[in-house]
Amino acid sequence: MAEPHPPRVTAFARGLRGHCPRCGGGGLFRNVTDIVETCPTCGLQFEREDGYWLGSMIVIMALVLVVFFVVTVGGILVTWPDVPWTVLLIVGIVANLFVPIVGYGWAKTTWMGLERGFTPTTPSEEADAAARLAARDRPVDG
Ligand SMILES: [Zn+2]
Repeated sequence: MAEPHPPRVTAFARGLRGHCPRCGGGGLFRNVTDIVETCPTCGLQFEREDGYWLGSMIVIMALVLVVFFVVTVGGILVTWPDVPWTVLLIVGIVANLFVPIVGYGWAKTTWMGLERGFTPTTPSEEADAAARLAARDRPVDG
C-alpha cells in the first residue's frame, strides 16, 4: 500500500531518481522525453490538473542554467588564460538545445517529487488510484 503522504525528502528523492513520489515504483518513462500518465505500481494519476507540468518547466530551466554555468565557468577555469571562447559558445548553445529535450521526462518526475512533497495526495486521488489498480487486475471475462 502506497503512503498517501510520504515525507517531503522521500518524495523529492524518489522524483529525482525518476520514480513515483507516492510509492517509489519505477518504470515511469515512456521514452527519454516523456513519462506514462499513471503509475504502473500504485495507479496514481500524475497530472493533477491542467497546467500541472508547468512546474517541470521550472525544473528544466534550472537544469539548463546549471549545465550552462558548469560548461561556461568550468571551461574558463580549465583553459585559463587561453580560453577558447568560440568552442565554449558552441558547446553552451548545443547543451541549451539538448538538455531541455533529453531531460524533460526527468524534470517531470522531479517536479512531481517536489510538488507531491508539499501537497498531499487527496482522498479522491487515492480512491481513483485504487480503482485504477482494481480495474487493471480484474480478470477478463471469457
Ligand atoms: Zn506509484
